[in-house]
Amino acid sequence: MLTAGPKGTNDIMPGEIEKWHYIEETVRDICREYGYREIRTPVFEHTELFQRGVGDTTDVVEKEMYTFRDKGKRSISLRPEGTASVVRAFVEHKTYAQPQPTKVWYMGPMFRYANVQAGRYRQFHQFGVEALGSKDPAVDAEVITMAMDFYGRLGLRDLELHINSVGCSLCRPGHREKLFEYLKPNAKQLCNLCQSRLERNPMRILDCKEENCREISEGAPMTADCLCDDCAGHFEKVKKYLDEVGVSYVINTRLVRGLDYYTNTAFEIMASDIGAQSSIGGGGRYDGLIEEIGGPPTPGIGYALGIERIIAAMERQGLEWPAGRKIYIFIAALGDEAREAAFKLVRDFRREGLTAEMDLMGRSLKAQMKFANRLDSAYTLILGEEELGKGIITVRDMAAGEQQELPLTGIVDYLKNKNT
Ligand code: AMP
Repeated sequence: MLTAGPKGTNDIMPGEIEKWHYIEETVRDICREYGYREIRTPVFEHTELFQRGVGDTTDVVEKEMYTFRDKGKRSISLRPEGTASVVRAFVEHKTYAQPQPTKVWYMGPMFRYANVQAGRYRQFHQFGVEALGSKDPAVDAEVITMAMDFYGRLGLRDLELHINSVGCSLCRPGHREKLFEYLKPNAKQLCNLCQSRLERNPMRILDCKEENCREISEGAPMTADCLCDDCAGHFEKVKKYLDEVGVSYVINTRLVRGLDYYTNTAFEIMASDIGAQSSIGGGGRYDGLIEEIGGPPTPGIGYALGIERIIAAMERQGLEWPAGRKIYIFIAALGDEAREAAFKLVRDFRREGLTAEMDLMGRSLKAQMKFANRLDSAYTLILGEEELGKGIITVRDMAAGEQQELPLTGIVDYLKNKNT
């Protein structure tokens, strides 16, 4: 117990974290270019926020939430996703009173009590964006384009962008009724989950992965067949904007996504080569959500992607990771006095912004040189009692394999000038 983390959690160790930093930097770059600003919300919220904001009938809320009572007897849940918190903050801080749209991004851990398998964890990390305050189809297209640009910048290939429109509060009830009538005669053949969905949320039956349910819903009325004029026009415009920037997509009429608050555009990005958990991100419009949680009627759209799955997809595709930062200077020192001088010297280097290390294990000179090699240091400095007495230090350029003796004073400037 004590020597293993809880099931479904991962340690991101040095060696691995550099990949995360690279992805995080790419996130920051893309978001800056697209005019999105970072928002950080708490990792726990009142349970009710997710019940209302994500939806009571969703698997995420029904089965996968980490919910507990705090010492004040409030029901608290660890966030299973990021949108509800962003919307809560938007309402709480009255951001809607400022010029719109509000464009924000977030990144951080999410928690779901899911069945653990490759690509499915209980603590995982999402990067997401939300654009609140505009109904313009250009915003839908911007969010989708940004997601695709992000994957592209990481070098990911062979991705499929699936898009659909799930309609709005005007056209959805008509679709729901038609779908219910269509599925009712075969209700008993549906899987247990879909039987319970039939009354509550029949649209979700369309994206059930069970073979039998798929067959039953094969000729069913799809949301795209029942759109009102506004929704149909909106969807056409989104597609036009995507065409304009050359973002290719597949229309997937079964794509309804698992969360209740989605309206109009829904989209999901698949990587064909990461196995069963092929979704590496998705999102959609949620024009009803802000009002649902107590704000003024405000449209919104967003998406979220799983960072673990991005890394898995990048590894599968054999993409290069940028080289990690090397130790620039290693000081091998021998003898008490030389070690004390080295201790001061590493600090002098660090104060000048250089990465410097010295031996902290009491190794022999030979072992220190070997260790410097392992660290892949650019320069190894050798300081013994003799050098110290003469006021010099031996500087070894590791790449060139050459060494020279230089005055101890001025060594900081010398290596600082080399580090260009
Ligand atoms: P969702 O919020 O369910 O739409 O998920 C958005 C993205 O988060 C998915 O496309 C995955 O990349 C990722 N994701 C969702 N659930 C998990 C999980 N349990 N473990 C790892 N990644 C996940």
